[in-house]
Amino acid sequence: MAKLRQLLGVVSGVTALTLAAAPTTASAVAPAKPTSTATGYGGAVATVDPDATAIGIDVLRRGGNAVDAAVATAAALGVTEPYSAGVGGGGFFVYYDAKHHRVHTIDGRETAPKTFTPTVFTENGKPIPFADAVTSGLSIGVPGTPLTWQNALDAWGTRTLEQTLAPATRLARNGFVVDQTFHDQTADNAKRFANFPATKALFLPGGQPPAVGTTLRNPDLAKTYDLLGQDGVQAIYRGPIGRDIVKTAQNPPASAPVRQGQLTADDLAAYTAPFRTPTKTGYEGLDVYGMAPPSSGGTTVGEALNIVEKTGLKGLDATDYLHRYLAASTLSFADRNRWVGDVPGVPVSSLLSDRFAATRACLIDPDKALTTPQPPGDPHTPGGDCARPAASDTKTPYEGPSTTHLTVADKWGNVVAYTLTIEQTGGSGITVPGRGFLLNNELTDFNFTPVTPGVPDPNLPGPGKRPRSSMAPTIVLSHGRPLLAVGSPGGATIITTVLQILLGRLDRGLTLPQAIAAPRASARNGKAVDAEPAFDTGALTARGWTFAPVKEIGAATGIEFLKNGRLLAAAEPTRRGGGSAATVR
Ligand code: GLU
Repeated sequence: MAKLRQLLGVVSGVTALTLAAAPTTASAVAPAKPTSTATGYGGAVATVDPDATAIGIDVLRRGGNAVDAAVATAAALGVTEPYSAGVGGGGFFVYYDAKHHRVHTIDGRETAPKTFTPTVFTENGKPIPFADAVTSGLSIGVPGTPLTWQNALDAWGTRTLEQTLAPATRLARNGFVVDQTFHDQTADNAKRFANFPATKALFLPGGQPPAVGTTLRNPDLAKTYDLLGQDGVQAIYRGPIGRDIVKTAQNPPASAPVRQGQLTADDLAAYTAPFRTPTKTGYEGLDVYGMAPPSSGGTTVGEALNIVEKTGLKGLDATDYLHRYLAASTLSFADRNRWVGDVPGVPVSSLLSDRFAATRACLIDPDKALTTPQPPGDPHTPGGDCARPAASDTKTPYEGPSTTHLTVADKWGNVVAYTLTIEQTGGSGITVPGRGFLLNNELTDFNFTPVTPGVPDPNLPGPGKRPRSSMAPTIVLSHGRPLLAVGSPGGATIITTVLQILLGRLDRGLTLPQAIAAPRASARNGKAVDAEPAFDTGALTARGWTFAPVKEIGAATGIEFLKNGRLLAAAEPTRRGGGSAATVR
């Protein structure tokens, strides 16, 4: 989201409650400059959206810290990126505390209702159609984002929830200027949105996707933020907003009926957003911190880095480098699919051990692509030799694209890498009537049936369980000090995008903006490797890799810590319409 919104200083009024009748400014805080790269001092923010970035910068400028700014920025994304972020969804918050030189994380993943069973997404032994599940009450999990914000502020912030929500509340009330990306995302979802009167009224004013350049207002969301500010997040977990969420999920108000959900008030009341020990991987003398289960982000990025490290990247030409990158991600995805989920005893430290990486790295033939699907290794008994596991018909589960990532640093050196989502672009498509936000469809991130028949699947649905995620907010430390923070949306491609950016920056001599802009490919142990049009497949095809063209992979943001307190904030130059990076000075 970005440039267009900036260029269109003037808006044309259209219809309906949510659209302005006359030109207005987008918010009280002037949007950040439409730039995807910024260098400076005093703090930095990088997001997909200039309004959100501007709000984060303003919080920093007024003396707020990175956590205050991250929450304010996320709340703003709930306004301008409502199809990717918002209080109806969840996410993972990774925080570097400069005073104590420690990395912390908050798990704000949505949870399943207590009534969920491993077969809840099946009928007559068959998985229900995926599209049916996406747009349904059944896929709605307990939102984790509100409690993530509260927990982050309580633990490390300097502002109240009410203070941090105030700028986004104004933005929701005054409106933001619709850009091409927002328009296109609405158009892509128009059919299913039209089925839900509350969603239609909010996002299809006059029955159509809002035109580029018009102002979209969300007074209901402003009221929701007001209530959260005044009464706290209990308004969701034990209060009136929660009651509306439950009612909506159990019986989605729709023109044509959709599957009903099982969420109850007890499920909301039982929700926690726990602080979790981050994953930690040593990579070429640096420490890479990420998100532990129920996300597979930290373990999978970390394992792939370890594998790549074993094969060595120094001095390789582009083809040899990319060959190893694709192979390492293929192998680590095989292990992720078999071992990682919201289950007891995920072998996190074994998956991240050098010993295990050695038994995987040795499977890589420097001249030949890996055949896929690769079977998983066994991190419990990594052995010393090159352990070639028995072949299996392991499949790669499906995950859709959406989500958003923000990165914030403050003048004290605190850093936040925060990825949040409502799962699919537009989530379940179901807006809570009168509350101004979409509910997630995160429970479709469970596997509906075991991925490999006869092999335990850690990501089947279960009572109160969190679906496995791929979100990979990542902070890299050098000698205990931050060097880099990065993350991206994109479902399972999040993992490969973060990995590719890390390798580009740390190994391939690219600057952070170059590493973000570089053409992407994503190998996830499926039949083919997804590749953007600009990704050069020629020499890799000759080695046996098969590619499937995709328009775009990910929408990353990051911050690098340069010498003497200088910060480099970077967002996408073009993907998803380009992002917005800014520094305080
Ligand atoms: N639900 C996905 C996950 O947690 C993120 C959604 C996306 O980026 O597509 O991995």
